[in-house]
Amino acid sequence: MFFKNKLKNKGVCPICEIEVNFIAKQSWLRDFYICTNCGSIPRERALMETIKTNYPNWKQAVIHETSPGNRGTSVRLQNECKEYIPSQYFKDRPLGTVKKGIRCENLESLTFEDNSIDLHISQDVMEHVFDPAKAFSEIARTLKPGGMHIFTVPLVNKANPSVRRAKIDNENNIVHFEKPSYHGSPIGDGKSLVTIDWGYDICDHIFQSSGLFTRIIYIDNIEKGIRAEYIEVLITQKNQKKISVSDL
Ligand SMILES: [Zn+2]
Repeated sequence: MFFKNKLKNKGVCPICEIEVNFIAKQSWLRDFYICTNCGSIPRERALMETIKTNYPNWKQAVIHETSPGNRGTSVRLQNECKEYIPSQYFKDRPLGTVKKGIRCENLESLTFEDNSIDLHISQDVMEHVFDPAKAFSEIARTLKPGGMHIFTVPLVNKANPSVRRAKIDNENNIVHFEKPSYHGSPIGDGKSLVTIDWGYDICDHIFQSSGLFTRIIYIDNIEKGIRAEYIEVLITQKNQKKISVSDL
């Protein structure tokens, strides 16, 4: 079947760092506006651009990435960072153990020591966790002072309040409040349940759970192949040191 290109332009890919062609054969740019050199999609390029701009020393950082992808930013971080720790949550393995280079970690109960990670990276993960407050607090605990959680998450509710779609009850059963919605996943049965439809109030949820501030970065730059719906990148940063208002 022939699809007319919906969008096609030359530009410099933030991941490849060379001039490439960006092509979208379908109008849903978020999944289909690809770099023909590295195969990345816009949110992956937005994430790489945000890391480079906001944490220029990223190659020297201790980086933990939860549920990494097999292309784009994940591959670049893996290849170029001094200490890159990829993790997945395998329910049949002890937390903190490493198999075939992948560490077993549950975001809601990380085995990393306090103040040990420069950068936590997650790509479209936070809409799938059952206890986001625990996950945000664990991320905050394990970040070094000055460290950051840089991540993509689709803020589908925008200025409307975030909505809980599913939770786990006391008997460990999944309770659905909305019609179950799934995204593709590289492990398990290949699909991942959406637990929360987030809006911009995610920043407030993160502050309530961790005491850390979050900024939302929005990039629309076709010359870098960054254009799509739900393209925001979030940066939660741990303060260098806590001071009270009376100290100011
Ligand atoms: Zn590329």
